Amino acid sequence: MPAIAQNIEQIEKGLKPDITLVAVTKTKPVELLLEAYKAGAKHFGENKVQEMTAKYEELPKDIVWHMIGHLQTNKVKYIAPFVSLIHSVDSIKLLKEINKEAEKNDRIINCLLQVYIAREETKFGLSDSEAEEIITSNELSSFGNVKIVGLMGMASNTDDHEKVRGEFRHLKNLFDHLKKYDSERVQMVELSMGMSGDYNIAIEEGSTMVRVGSAIFGSR
Ligand SMILES: *Cc1c(COP(=O)(O)O)cnc(C)c1O
Repeated sequence: MPAIAQNIEQIEKGLKPDITLVAVTKTKPVELLLEAYKAGAKHFGENKVQEMTAKYEELPKDIVWHMIGHLQTNKVKYIAPFVSLIHSVDSIKLLKEINKEAEKNDRIINCLLQVYIAREETKFGLSDSEAEEIITSNELSSFGNVKIVGLMGMASNTDDHEKVRGEFRHLKNLFDHLKKYDSERVQMVELSMGMSGDYNIAIEEGSTMVRVGSAIFGSR
C-alpha cells in the first residue's frame, strides 16, 4: 500500500467515527491529493485561495474543501462558490464579505471563528471576548447567508504537552460557554483543533475536527 494510504488508514483508526479528518494538502501537488482521495480522504484543507481554487478545478467534485488559512476579504469571492467550511474567520468585516459572496452564490457558508490560544505565537485570531462579541452582535443576526458552526484554534508549537493540553482545554471551555448563544446564525457543533503533532491531545480535550498535513503527506 502506498505511504499516503497507509498513513490515512493509521490516523483514521485512532479517530472516533464522529471526528472529521481534514487532510491538509497545502503545497502538495494534485497527484498526491488524488492518491489521498482514492485512499478515502474526502475533506481537504488548504491555506491559500489561489491554490485551493486551482486544485478544486482539477479534482473530483465530491471533495469537501476547508479554508484553514488567513483569508483576505478581496479573495473571498473566488472560493465562495464551493468552499464548505472556512475555519479562519477573525473579524466581523470578513464575515460580512463572506455573507455577501455567499448570497451571490445563493448558498449558506459555514464558518468557524479562529481564536488564538497560543498567545505568544499566533498573528491571527480573536480573543475569547472578541469571539463572544461577534457571536452576540446585531450585525451577525442580519447576515442571512453565513452560519457560525464552531471554533478553530492552534496550540503552541512546543513539546510541553501539558501546555498544549491546557490551551486546547481553554478553547473547549470557550466553545461550551458559547453554546448558550445557539440561534439561527450560530450553532456550536464543530471544534477544529489538533494537527500532526498534537491531534491525540486535541481529541482527548474534545476536538471534533483534526487538521493533519505532514503526518499524511510527509514534511513540507
Ligand atoms: C499547515 C496547517 C495544519 C497542518 O499542519 P501539520 O503539522 O502539517 O499537520 C493545520 N492547521 C493549519 C491552520 C495549518 O496552516
